[in-house]
Amino acid sequence: MVQTFDIAVIGLGAMGSAALYQLARRGARVVGIDRHHPPHIHGSTHGETRITRRGIGEGEFYVPLAARSHEIWRQLEEETGKVLFHEVGSLIVSEHDDDVVRPGRTGFIRRSIAAAQRYGIAHEIIDAAEVRHRYPHMSPTDTEIGYFEPGGGYLVPETCVSAQLERAGQLGASILTGQQVVKIDAQSGSVVVHLADGNTIIATQAIVAAGPWAPGLLGAPFDRILKPTRQVMHWFALAADAPQSWTRGPVFMWPHGDSEDGFFYGFPSLDGRSFKTADEFYGDASDPDRIERSVPPSDSERMFRAHVQGRLKGVTPQVVNTATCIYTATADSIFLIDRHPAHDNILVVSPCSGHGFKHSAAIGESVAQWALEGKSSIDLSSFNLARLLT
Ligand SMILES: Cc1cc2nc3c(=O)[nH]c(=O)nc-3n(C[C@H](O)[C@H](O)[C@H](O)COP(=O)(O)OP(=O)(O)OC[C@H]3O[C@@H](n4cnc5c(N)ncnc54)[C@H](O)[C@@H]3O)c2cc1C
Repeated sequence: MVQTFDIAVIGLGAMGSAALYQLARRGARVVGIDRHHPPHIHGSTHGETRITRRGIGEGEFYVPLAARSHEIWRQLEEETGKVLFHEVGSLIVSEHDDDVVRPGRTGFIRRSIAAAQRYGIAHEIIDAAEVRHRYPHMSPTDTEIGYFEPGGGYLVPETCVSAQLERAGQLGASILTGQQVVKIDAQSGSVVVHLADGNTIIATQAIVAAGPWAPGLLGAPFDRILKPTRQVMHWFALAADAPQSWTRGPVFMWPHGDSEDGFFYGFPSLDGRSFKTADEFYGDASDPDRIERSVPPSDSERMFRAHVQGRLKGVTPQVVNTATCIYTATADSIFLIDRHPAHDNILVVSPCSGHGFKHSAAIGESVAQWALEGKSSIDLSSFNLARLLT
């Protein structure tokens, strides 16, 4: 069977569900296709929570995406009645002069403060004593400071995806789940999308948002510039006498020490009994279909010793839950959003190097504008492919 559409969106995780919703809002005849049933636990968009903030220390060019995304999440909440964005504040704890080279986050606190100042984002810079006073569950050293953004917080990624898919469907989008795209044939004026069940979809354009599977699906040159890596999230039990501030604290990010791995982040306790935390791994690439999903106790023991112990109070080493997830990074940790170099009717929306969720709503809007109007209102030129091809 052959079906025809204006645009086919391949992959319905964070980026694809946002693009599908925005295309459907604009009246395009769209189809979204996913090999799984989003939201699901196989890609990059699961695990209860994602940090969001607007003073983006990874680069000031992200700020308009984060700011616009906050507006879209609120609009979606009104449209669907779902709670997507918890504005509990965000806190970066760090030495002010931290300059340790970390992928995408060198000089993180200084660059976050600079972005907030340049864009007029409400924030406070507080000393270590004030951090300890406000949040007794945190123990920064006297030389560390806090950058607090009251408008930051966390998003619920699974609900964001389902809300956007629900709205896209109501607005007329076709959604095919449990359908794997096995091949994309682009010709001038059309893209032929081949499904594993033998059916075919023909669209004028395609948006490929296949997350960690993008390198395998797209082939060269993407298979050498996008690197999927295994990441682990850990939920530790709180002690019976844990400070009350665990349930009302902000999300936090904490670069520390003098090595690349000295970075972790975490969330307030959502249930009063445990909290989620993670660090980041930038080692060898993993095949998303063969990634080790189980988490040995030694992974959580290392996480506890390397980051949690001595920095957070009222936490026990008892592991309540773990989950594996996948980052897909470029060499400079900056997103990749561009047209395919050989086929200008294919837009590639990269998995965004482990910090993309907060921007995904606006990325969906921007690529919808790009596909339908030829340009987006937010400048996406920093995410060009050419920089990665040299
Ligand atoms: C542990 C972890 C913590 C993170 N924390 C944060 C955070 O705090 N803040 C933040 O902003 N960002 C964070 N991120 C990053 C953010 O979650 C990702 O950038 C984002 O979720 C990537 O979404 P995606 O749509 O690119 O990929 P995915 O969600 O993986 O979606 C890709 C989709 O494509 C589908 N697909 C793939 N191949 C095919 C095919 N051949 N045919 C059909 N369908 C296909 C898949 O089934 C999948 O549904 C984190 C990521 C991880 C892993």
